[in-house]
Amino acid sequence: FDLERIGVHESVEQVFPPAELRDELADCPATVDVVGDDEIAACDAVITLEHREAFLEVDWVHSIQAGVDRFPLEAFDEHDVVLTNSTGIHDRSVGETVAGYLLAFARRLHTHVAAQQECRGGRPAWDEAFTLPGTTACVVGTGTLGGGVAEVLGALGVRITGVRRSADSLPGFEEMYATEDVLDAVADAEFVIVTLPLTDETNHLIAADVFDAMDEDAYFVNVGRGQVVDEPALVDALESGAIAGAALDVFEDEPLPKESPLWTMDEVIVTPHCAAFTEDYFHDIGELVRENVGRLESGDAFHNRVV
Ligand code: NAD
Repeated sequence: FDLERIGVHESVEQVFPPAELRDELADCPATVDVVGDDEIAACDAVITLEHREAFLEVDWVHSIQAGVDRFPLEAFDEHDVVLTNSTGIHDRSVGETVAGYLLAFARRLHTHVAAQQECRGGRPAWDEAFTLPGTTACVVGTGTLGGGVAEVLGALGVRITGVRRSADSLPGFEEMYATEDVLDAVADAEFVIVTLPLTDETNHLIAADVFDAMDEDAYFVNVGRGQVVDEPALVDALESGAIAGAALDVFEDEPLPKESPLWTMDEVIVTPHCAAFTEDYFHDIGELVRENVGRLESGDAFHNRVV
């Protein structure tokens, strides 16, 4: 297809100002504009956060997220719409966010920040704080996010194990388990960290049996997708003391509803789906898009093509 006009859909505003990406792509051999819903049909390609029905009329859609579960993949295929995603850029940002969660739990920083809101002091009990070396983190999903988490936590002295479909070993992971052995994998970890995409297979993969298999002193982290976790089962596990706490960036319903008990639990850290945020986000997206514009011109296959 001919690429004459690329639209930066205004929904990307939830992650960075659309105009920053437009300016970043100013050297592209196509016109790049910030577009609202009314202008989608006039574009050959759209860079977007959210999905719109009108995308079925364009030739190429680029998702600024790695996860593409919100797009109707079959309809894209039927309408010959190419879909590319942004996997590959979130390793360091999400790795550092997860390291922040683990450091907060180990060094009790979340309790001090909470106390500070009420101008309240009070030290933790003598046996509450710990250090990370000697602990094990089981990373469920060993793609870009899993690799980034393993690298940053590994540098902090955490022993890393992984769960992937094949159980084949990977650099940075001391032990690897197959997905069907996830209960064994989580049993001897102080931290269980979910970095999976949402698919038919991973939907509610993490349910009550996983929380039962975890140690009661262990913490659970989800930076993949909310629906990978049975959220009521997680709330039960937290309320019953089956696990020690959780750090959650993604939820079954986003934004997390006001009435969710997760908001007010002492040992739960809630972040609003921003684990991958960085001031360089628009720049990383610009590089991915520019790479594919070049491949389109030279007739090569798209990088990160999903459909
Ligand atoms: P990726 O494609 O690099 O990695 C996904 C990994 O999951 C792959 O290694 C794949 O083989 C594995 N996987 C898929 N199904 C599996 C299963 N049933 N059992 C075991 N492993 C399985 O993608 P990524 O960039 O690492 O992102 C992963 C997901 O994390 C995204 O799809 C997205 O939903 C989410 N994400 C969230 C944020 C955030 O801000 N919280 C940021 C980026 C990505």
